[in-house]
Amino acid sequence: MGEVSLATIAESVGTPAYVYNVDVIRDRYRRLDAAFAAVPHRIHYAAKANSTLAVLRLFRDLGAGADIVSGGELARCLTAGFSPERIVFSGVGKTDEELEAAVANDVGAIHVESLDELAILGAIAERRGRAVRVGIRVNPDVLTETHPFISTGQQGIKFGVPMDQMDEAVRRVTEQPGLRLTTLAMHLGSQLLDLEPYAAGVRRLVERVVELQQQGIETLNVVDIGGGLGIRYFDEQPPEPEELSAVLVPLLLPTGLTVHLEPGRFLVGSAGLLLTRVLYRKHSGGKGFLVVDCGMNDLVRPSRYGAYHDIVEVRPRGGEEVPVDVVGPVCETGDFLALDRPLPPVERGDVLAVLGAGAYGFVMASSYNSRPRPPEVLVDGARWTIGRQRETVEDLMRGESVAPIDD
Ligand SMILES: *Cc1c(COP(=O)(O)O)cnc(C)c1O
Repeated sequence: MGEVSLATIAESVGTPAYVYNVDVIRDRYRRLDAAFAAVPHRIHYAAKANSTLAVLRLFRDLGAGADIVSGGELARCLTAGFSPERIVFSGVGKTDEELEAAVANDVGAIHVESLDELAILGAIAERRGRAVRVGIRVNPDVLTETHPFISTGQQGIKFGVPMDQMDEAVRRVTEQPGLRLTTLAMHLGSQLLDLEPYAAGVRRLVERVVELQQQGIETLNVVDIGGGLGIRYFDEQPPEPEELSAVLVPLLLPTGLTVHLEPGRFLVGSAGLLLTRVLYRKHSGGKGFLVVDCGMNDLVRPSRYGAYHDIVEVRPRGGEEVPVDVVGPVCETGDFLALDRPLPPVERGDVLAVLGAGAYGFVMASSYNSRPRPPEVLVDGARWTIGRQRETVEDLMRGESVAPIDD
């Protein structure tokens, strides 16, 4: 990766280990940024895709803002040095404490997703005597072809304010003395591979923007088109950023508003991989298995979404490929990285790289089976550094007591 040997990294930090190529992240960001140059815009990196401090700092240094979905991510982004004004807070279930923290820090905007949330936020703003910038996340009711667990822009799912409640939501924001309606937002889902749903969603969003402008709501200055741009894991053909902007910019430009984007996966997904070492080979029921030292706790996407990740040898041996199930040590049959995957005859001790693991990889890792989470390494050209140390078993037991009832 870059000019650094992955075998050296595996030797030095052990396996499993996440490794990110900083150059790829920078390239992806600059390309998307350039694609939208024709319209005033800002990219808010969706922190939940990969919220390691060093990765967040990278985005801050590139000039990005951050899209967050929890108080934890707010703390991370502030620690990484984002100015609060460049943070937008999305999410369907913000707690009172999270809303309080966002208001106290005066974040750029809070995107509300329900009438109930509006009422709570209005009360907090009033009590604190603050003017809070509010976005309404609209559910534009657009069908997307992605995994049902990550499709978020249709009616009948939990996200966004439904179209038929929009008038009421706008009325309530404008009636609340502490709230300023600055943004209309949408987010259709993740790993989107077609332009058409984006165009349909933006058209609906822009219709609403025009209505609000006609009503004379002068605080409205941002239209946020969300994230979701897909990447190539197998043979997908995701739209290029220039194709996306070619379709969307003509729709957005006439509003005269600043455009916000909230990509996560697109910026970091292809930049990362997960190093794992082969522990054992075995045969069962006429099938070959490769048992590796990384499990569903380290990378959950294959078992959770049936996601495909390329797996390659770090030092290719060559030889004929034979289909095997690549499985981890976790005590679940659902613990696999790949099923029936043609792989060359690798052996115990060989290091493999699971590709496309930069987004929704480490952040979804758990310590299930009391397995400490992997370290995260950043590669920048010829240099590499550890962004996060490997967790220890002591870390996992922190805060527990052996006999709390006797204490
Ligand atoms: C998850 C999320 C994103 C980013 O999605 P990607 O598919 O990673 O680009 C953007 N906005 C919101 C509100 C999200 O919840």
